Amino acid sequence: MSTTGSRDPDIDADFAARTCAHPDCNLVGEFRAPRSRDALDSYYWFCLEHVREYNAAWNYYADMDDAAMEAERRNDIVWRRPTWPLGTRTGNDGEKFADPLRLLGRDGPDGAETRAADVQLQSLTPSEREAISVLGLVAPVTKADVKVRYKILAKMLHPDANGGDKRAEDRLKSVNYAYTTLRDSERLI
Ligand SMILES: [Zn+2]
Repeated sequence: MSTTGSRDPDIDADFAARTCAHPDCNLVGEFRAPRSRDALDSYYWFCLEHVREYNAAWNYYADMDDAAMEAERRNDIVWRRPTWPLGTRTGNDGEKFADPLRLLGRDGPDGAETRAADVQLQSLTPSEREAISVLGLVAPVTKADVKVRYKILAKMLHPDANGGDKRAEDRLKSVNYAYTTLRDSERLI
Protein backbone atom coordinates (compact mmCIF):
# COMPACT_ATOMS: atom_id res chain seq x y z
CA MET A 1 0.00 0.00 0.00
CA SER A 2 1.45 3.33 -0.96
CA THR A 3 0.35 6.63 0.47
CA THR A 4 1.26 9.46 -1.81
CA GLY A 5 0.04 12.03 0.69
CA SER A 6 -2.08 13.88 -1.82
CA ARG A 7 -5.03 13.90 0.56
CA ASP A 8 -4.61 15.13 4.08
CA PRO A 9 -7.33 13.63 6.27
CA ASP A 10 -7.29 16.66 8.55
CA ILE A 11 -7.95 19.00 5.66
CA ASP A 12 -10.70 16.74 4.38
CA ALA A 13 -12.31 16.65 7.82
CA ASP A 14 -12.03 20.39 8.03
CA PHE A 15 -13.63 20.85 4.66
CA ALA A 16 -16.43 18.44 5.51
CA ALA A 17 -17.11 20.50 8.60
CA ARG A 18 -18.05 23.47 6.44
CA THR A 19 -21.24 22.00 5.07
CA CYS A 20 -24.21 20.81 7.10
CA ALA A 21 -23.64 17.24 8.35
CA HIS A 22 -27.17 16.25 7.43
CA PRO A 23 -26.94 13.79 4.53
CA ASP A 24 -29.41 15.59 2.26
CA CYS A 25 -28.33 19.13 3.02
CA ASN A 26 -25.78 21.34 1.25
CA LEU A 27 -26.19 24.43 3.35
CA VAL A 28 -23.29 25.90 5.27
CA GLY A 29 -22.69 24.19 8.61
CA GLU A 30 -22.69 27.17 10.93
CA PHE A 31 -23.89 25.57 14.14
CA ARG A 32 -22.00 22.95 16.01
CA ALA A 33 -23.28 20.08 18.13
CA PRO A 34 -21.24 17.49 20.03
CA ARG A 35 -20.83 14.13 18.29
CA SER A 36 -21.47 12.07 21.38
CA ARG A 37 -21.49 12.28 25.15
CA ASP A 38 -18.10 10.59 25.15
CA ALA A 39 -16.65 13.21 22.84
CA LEU A 40 -18.14 16.53 23.87
CA ASP A 41 -15.26 18.46 22.31
CA SER A 42 -15.73 16.84 18.91
CA TYR A 43 -18.44 18.37 16.79
CA TYR A 44 -20.75 18.01 13.83
CA TRP A 45 -21.58 21.18 11.97
CA PHE A 46 -25.14 21.84 10.85
CA CYS A 47 -27.33 24.48 9.32
CA LEU A 48 -29.87 26.03 11.69
CA GLU A 49 -32.72 23.71 10.82
CA HIS A 50 -30.66 20.59 11.19
CA VAL A 51 -28.86 21.58 14.37
CA ARG A 52 -32.31 22.00 15.91
CA GLU A 53 -33.35 18.61 14.65
CA TYR A 54 -30.13 17.03 15.87
CA ASN A 55 -30.43 18.60 19.29
CA ALA A 56 -33.99 17.44 19.65
CA ALA A 57 -32.97 13.88 18.83
CA TRP A 58 -29.95 14.19 21.10
CA ASN A 59 -32.09 15.21 24.02
CA TYR A 60 -34.55 12.47 23.34
CA TYR A 61 -32.15 9.60 22.84
CA ALA A 62 -29.46 10.94 25.18
CA ASP A 63 -27.09 7.98 24.84
CA MET A 64 -29.59 5.60 26.32
CA ASP A 65 -28.29 2.21 27.31
CA ASP A 66 -30.30 -0.87 26.39
CA ALA A 67 -32.22 -0.93 29.64
CA ALA A 68 -33.22 2.70 29.24
CA MET A 69 -34.23 2.06 25.64
CA GLU A 70 -36.41 -0.78 26.76
CA ALA A 71 -38.00 1.37 29.43
CA GLU A 72 -38.56 4.04 26.81
CA ARG A 73 -40.28 1.60 24.50
CA ARG A 74 -42.67 0.75 27.26
CA ASN A 75 -43.06 4.32 28.33
CA ASP A 76 -43.83 5.34 24.82
CA ILE A 77 -44.73 8.90 25.59
CA VAL A 78 -43.55 10.78 22.57
CA TRP A 79 -44.32 8.86 19.44
CA ARG A 80 -47.61 7.21 19.96
CA ARG A 81 -50.90 8.97 19.74
CA PRO A 82 -53.15 8.17 22.68
CA THR A 83 -55.82 5.62 21.91
CA TRP A 84 -58.37 7.76 23.69
CA PRO A 85 -58.54 11.49 24.19
CA LEU A 86 -57.02 12.30 27.56
CA GLY A 87 -59.41 12.15 30.47
CA THR A 88 -61.92 9.76 29.00
CA ARG A 89 -60.44 6.60 30.46
CA THR A 90 -62.46 5.58 33.44
CA GLY A 91 -62.87 2.51 35.50
CA ASN A 92 -66.16 0.66 35.58
CA ASP A 93 -67.33 2.71 38.54
CA GLY A 94 -66.52 5.88 36.65
CA GLU A 95 -63.63 6.74 38.92
CA LYS A 96 -60.42 7.59 37.15
CA PHE A 97 -57.29 5.84 38.31
CA ALA A 98 -53.83 5.26 36.95
CA ASP A 99 -52.22 1.91 36.38
CA PRO A 100 -48.92 2.83 34.75
CA LEU A 101 -47.36 -0.58 35.27
CA ARG A 102 -50.47 -2.34 34.04
CA LEU A 103 -50.54 -4.45 37.19
CA LEU A 104 -54.26 -4.76 36.71
CA GLY A 105 -53.84 -6.17 33.21
CA ARG A 106 -57.05 -6.41 31.27
CA ASP A 107 -59.15 -5.15 34.15
CA GLY A 108 -57.20 -1.93 34.50
CA PRO A 109 -57.89 1.35 32.76
CA ASP A 110 -55.55 0.32 29.93
CA GLY A 111 -57.35 -2.96 29.45
CA ALA A 112 -58.90 -2.11 26.11
CA GLU A 113 -55.58 -0.88 24.79
CA THR A 114 -53.83 -3.99 26.04
CA ARG A 115 -56.42 -6.08 24.23
CA ALA A 116 -55.93 -4.09 21.02
CA ALA A 117 -52.20 -4.74 21.31
CA ASP A 118 -52.78 -8.43 21.93
CA VAL A 119 -55.11 -8.73 18.98
CA GLN A 120 -52.58 -7.14 16.67
CA LEU A 121 -49.61 -9.04 18.04
CA GLN A 122 -51.41 -12.35 17.63
CA SER A 123 -52.12 -11.54 14.00
CA LEU A 124 -48.47 -10.84 13.23
CA THR A 125 -45.59 -13.16 12.43
CA PRO A 126 -42.65 -13.39 14.85
CA SER A 127 -40.47 -11.33 12.51
CA GLU A 128 -43.14 -8.65 12.29
CA ARG A 129 -43.37 -8.53 16.08
CA GLU A 130 -39.59 -8.28 16.26
CA ALA A 131 -39.62 -5.49 13.66
CA ILE A 132 -42.02 -3.43 15.78
CA SER A 133 -39.66 -3.77 18.69
CA VAL A 134 -36.58 -2.92 16.59
CA LEU A 135 -38.27 0.35 15.60
CA GLY A 136 -38.96 1.04 19.26
CA LEU A 137 -42.70 0.96 18.75
CA VAL A 138 -45.37 -0.74 20.83
CA ALA A 139 -48.41 -2.48 19.40
CA PRO A 140 -50.91 -1.62 18.16
CA VAL A 141 -49.22 0.24 15.32
CA THR A 142 -50.26 1.33 11.83
CA LYS A 143 -48.16 1.58 8.68
CA ALA A 144 -48.28 5.35 9.14
CA ASP A 145 -46.71 4.99 12.61
CA VAL A 146 -44.03 2.77 11.13
CA LYS A 147 -43.23 5.22 8.36
CA VAL A 148 -42.93 8.22 10.65
CA ARG A 149 -40.70 6.33 13.04
CA TYR A 150 -38.57 4.95 10.23
CA LYS A 151 -37.90 8.37 8.74
CA ILE A 152 -36.67 9.68 12.07
CA LEU A 153 -34.45 6.69 12.78
CA ALA A 154 -33.02 6.55 9.26
CA LYS A 155 -32.04 10.19 9.48
CA MET A 156 -30.49 9.80 12.92
CA LEU A 157 -28.57 6.65 12.03
CA HIS A 158 -27.38 7.73 8.60
CA PRO A 159 -23.60 7.08 8.27
CA ASP A 160 -22.92 10.68 7.25
CA ALA A 161 -24.52 11.85 10.46
CA ASN A 162 -22.55 9.42 12.61
CA GLY A 163 -19.01 9.71 11.31
CA GLY A 164 -19.11 6.11 10.07
CA ASP A 165 -19.84 4.79 13.57
CA LYS A 166 -20.21 1.03 13.32
CA ARG A 167 -22.98 0.76 15.90
CA ALA A 168 -25.12 3.28 14.09
CA GLU A 169 -24.45 1.44 10.84
CA ASP A 170 -25.51 -1.90 12.27
CA ARG A 171 -28.56 -0.41 13.89
CA LEU A 172 -29.53 1.22 10.59
CA LYS A 173 -29.39 -2.16 8.87
CA SER A 174 -31.74 -3.64 11.45
CA VAL A 175 -34.00 -0.61 11.17
CA ASN A 176 -34.09 -0.85 7.36
CA TYR A 177 -34.94 -4.52 7.56
CA ALA A 178 -37.63 -3.95 10.18
CA TYR A 179 -39.15 -1.17 8.11
CA THR A 180 -39.29 -3.28 4.94
CA THR A 181 -40.83 -6.14 6.88
CA LEU A 182 -43.65 -3.99 8.23
CA ARG A 183 -44.16 -1.91 5.10
CA ASP A 184 -44.72 -5.05 3.05
CA SER A 185 -46.89 -6.77 5.63
CA GLU A 186 -50.47 -7.49 4.66
CA ARG A 187 -51.37 -7.77 8.32
CA LEU A 188 -50.72 -4.11 9.09
CA ILE A 189 -53.13 -1.37 8.15
ZN1 LIG B 1 -28.78 21.27 7.00
